[in-house]
Amino acid sequence: MKKIIIAIDGHSSAGKSTMAKDLAKEIGYTYIDTGAMYRAVTLYAIRHGCFSEERMDEEKLRAALPDIRISFRRNEAADSFETYLNGTNVEKEIRGMDVAKLVSLVAALSFVRRDLVSKQQEMGKDRGIVMDGRDIGTMVFPDAELKIFVTASPEIRALRRLDELKARGEKASFEDVLDNVKNRDHIDSTREEGPLRQAEDALRLDTSDMTVAEQKDWLLGQYNKITGSL
Ligand code: C5P
Repeated sequence: MKKIIIAIDGHSSAGKSTMAKDLAKEIGYTYIDTGAMYRAVTLYAIRHGCFSEERMDEEKLRAALPDIRISFRRNEAADSFETYLNGTNVEKEIRGMDVAKLVSLVAALSFVRRDLVSKQQEMGKDRGIVMDGRDIGTMVFPDAELKIFVTASPEIRALRRLDELKARGEKASFEDVLDNVKNRDHIDSTREEGPLRQAEDALRLDTSDMTVAEQKDWLLGQYNKITGSL
């Protein structure tokens, strides 16, 4: 069967990555979490002194960019892919609030976006990929055969994110997480390069009142429909 590109964009914590991961597993495609790539660059920037008191030294990060290598490796035991930064597993570190608070600033830098977008295009050149992010259907693969835009109310998204953080033993308040979700939405939607917006040919899915199983079934249905028509 002809392999396609599935672009899943949308707001933070709307359920993109769970759906995308499940679908990729079901149909034997590669899954790429592009948010993890922006998070890894942010972690690198934090660790290498590119921030002081939330002010960013852009030139320092620009100079360091060629030294940042991001890869994904399979963790068989956890049945998941994990993010590596220059050969070290950083999956846990990139998911914390300290990275979440700064990632949208890093992701708004055009030199960072250009670098990561070209890496993402390379990863999907043979198709057979499910990629989730903010600009996949608009910038990275405008020719993707299936484009989905996922959203949910900010409060529901903050609750889901809080549950994830708690499950990992991290302390955070609902207000703090809600603030972060709204702030990231704002920065992501208003930046000049690759802003978060629904592609004209994307299908919109509001997951506010959906279970994970319902989201998964819906997405698989869309995949079957599109591949059946090719
Ligand atoms: O998907 P996730 O919430 O992990 O993404 C973290 C951040 O990375 C987003 O809030 C956004 O600022 C940035 N991002 C982006 N473009 C993408 C994926 C993520 O700007 N394709």
